[in-house]
Amino acid sequence: MDKARNRLRAALVSVGDELLSGRTVDTNGAWLGRELARLGVPVARRYTVGDAAAEIQEAVAGAAACAELVIVTGGLGPTPDDVTRDAVAALTARPLREDAEVLARIQELFRERGGSGMAAPNRRVAQVPDGATKLANERGTAPGLAMEHGASVVVLLPGVPREMRGIFRGPLTALLEARFEGRLRPVHVRLLHTTGIPESRLAEEVARCLPDGTGPVDMAFLPDLRGVDLRLSASDMTGEEADRRFEAIEKALQGVLEPWRYDAPGGDLAEAVSTALRASQATLAVAESCTGGLIGKRLTDLPGASDVFPGGVIAYSNDVKVRVLGVAGDVLAAEGAVAGPVAARMAREAARRCGAEAGIGVTGVAGPGGGSAVKPVGTVWYAAFLRGRVATRAAWFAGDREAIREQAAQAALFLLLRLLDGRETPDP
Ligand code: ATP
Ligand code: MG
Repeated sequence: MDKARNRLRAALVSVGDELLSGRTVDTNGAWLGRELARLGVPVARRYTVGDAAAEIQEAVAGAAACAELVIVTGGLGPTPDDVTRDAVAALTARPLREDAEVLARIQELFRERGGSGMAAPNRRVAQVPDGATKLANERGTAPGLAMEHGASVVVLLPGVPREMRGIFRGPLTALLEARFEGRLRPVHVRLLHTTGIPESRLAEEVARCLPDGTGPVDMAFLPDLRGVDLRLSASDMTGEEADRRFEAIEKALQGVLEPWRYDAPGGDLAEAVSTALRASQATLAVAESCTGGLIGKRLTDLPGASDVFPGGVIAYSNDVKVRVLGVAGDVLAAEGAVAGPVAARMAREAARRCGAEAGIGVTGVAGPGGGSAVKPVGTVWYAAFLRGRVATRAAWFAGDREAIREQAAQAALFLLLRLLDGRETPDP
């Protein structure tokens, strides 16, 4: 059927009782789907089966019938419930033989780790189906295995995500490039990150700037709580040509995107903020009420965070806002905790008390309780402080507690980014 159209496709088989019971989520399947899409090999079908030889064989046979590339993950280890290797060896009629090289490597690993040496069951991991290609596993004991089966290649990878990924990115990608020479269609991708503008409005404005469409470049809007990514992608062209076309589209969209855009290779706005702080030789301290540390978490997720982030305060109660940050009790009494002057004071004092040039303050009603007619659930006041000047804003976010907190953290970070790069003006 589809093979006749010569379109290279993949099918995945995830093995493990824990995947069926829901104790483990099949992140391997999702990750492989994304990686294969980048190589221009769509996943046509996914199977999930337990640790049972007959089930594994049925799935692999079905996968090979619909796809030229079959990737099986899980069940390659030394324990008795790991039966993938035996099941696939039997299916493909390949006798298993102990591989001296693999065995030597496992013994070496166990020696390095010390202890009583290699336990007997680990010998199973050195069994290689006749004629299979070994794919080196730098992060564990069981190597990946690739073998021809009819018109397809069947690849076995360990279930441990870290090991699976390492083998895929390294030896497996090289094998696929050789085995499917000229048939991989790598997809070139550029992500343009925006935040603060709703998807529908962004789509409208983008369409207005690109009346003739985007030619061979695909454009997708990817919204989540933090914002909307514009994903440009193109295949069947060189990387240089894709870059040229992406550049042209970006240029056409420049005016529309400018107020909402941020650049972050890893995708997180916190990364853009860190970069901007470094560029302006500033450090940032935070005072978080309703976000409860979300902003600090995102900043410290980045390696090297201590260069720009000395710390902050989770000022959840009024008492802490007063005692630790010096927010005036009469302001709190008059305005309540969710108010512009409180957010501004939090940002300013966080910076001053932590010896930072920049500060962020966030205070809001995350719900589900605590809302009022004047300050309904979702009301958030946030402020960014930079070298003596402060910008204060309010927002009314929709959604549940988590959604409101997520949006509040994002809005506050973005306000600071725009102060740092001169897109936003401080309060008069
Ligand atoms: P090991 O040598 O560690 O036994 P293995 O190839 O036998 O490796 P499994 O025993 O199936 O792999 O799984 C090892 C670990 O990897 C388990 O913690 C399991 O939950 C996790 N894992 C297995 N398959 C997946 C998957 N599809 N997605 C995410 N995690 C997985
Ligand atoms: Mg196992």
